[in-house]
Amino acid sequence: MEIRKMPVAPIGANCYIVSEADEAFIIDPGGDAEEIIRAAKNFDVRYILLTHAHFDHIGGLNEVKEAFPEAKTAVHKLEKEWLYSAELNLSENFGLDSVYEQNVDIELEDGMALDLAGTKIKVLHTPGHTPGSTCFYIGKSYTCENHVLFSGDTLFRSSIGRTDFPGGSGRKIVESIKTKLLTLPDETVVYPGHDENTSISLEKKLNPFLNH
Ligand SMILES: [Zn+2]
Ligand SMILES: [Zn+2]
Repeated sequence: MEIRKMPVAPIGANCYIVSEADEAFIIDPGGDAEEIIRAAKNFDVRYILLTHAHFDHIGGLNEVKEAFPEAKTAVHKLEKEWLYSAELNLSENFGLDSVYEQNVDIELEDGMALDLAGTKIKVLHTPGHTPGSTCFYIGKSYTCENHVLFSGDTLFRSSIGRTDFPGGSGRKIVESIKTKLLTLPDETVVYPGHDENTSISLEKKLNPFLNH
């Protein structure tokens, strides 16, 4: 499995293109749609997965979906309507108007599994940053050399997501991380929605927001 990380406009959220053989999925096409499309154009893109529906993670969604119409757009069911509201997805606050123009194909729920070329992508509902924040976990296998977690804006290197936006909860984000993420294998490589990668073991040791 190959993971390509692309920080994208407008504020550098990490978009990921994850591929296995000739299939791929895209996580959080926040902007710079042309670059994302170019990077994914040789793959059969099966899914566009959203960790949550904030503007900085969905700004390129319309163009990317148009370029890969067969790809299934997936967002947690609690945030489906956020895609269609510039107020809810906060784009309005930042002088943008990000409103999704197509259908949501998959409404994510905790415990679901998606398949990419025989590799299982586990859906973990981790509310706190937003009510429908979702992480995606792929266990180590013959196709994937590490356990990997895409943690959106829930878990960052030595930090956690903001909880001061509408629908956020400081108590829930810590509970989500402790029950759903820190219980993953220590060596899991974490690919967050902003900034640098980390691992579950590093966050257990060093994350100041989880050590009390
Ligand atoms: Zn966010
Ligand atoms: Zn973000």
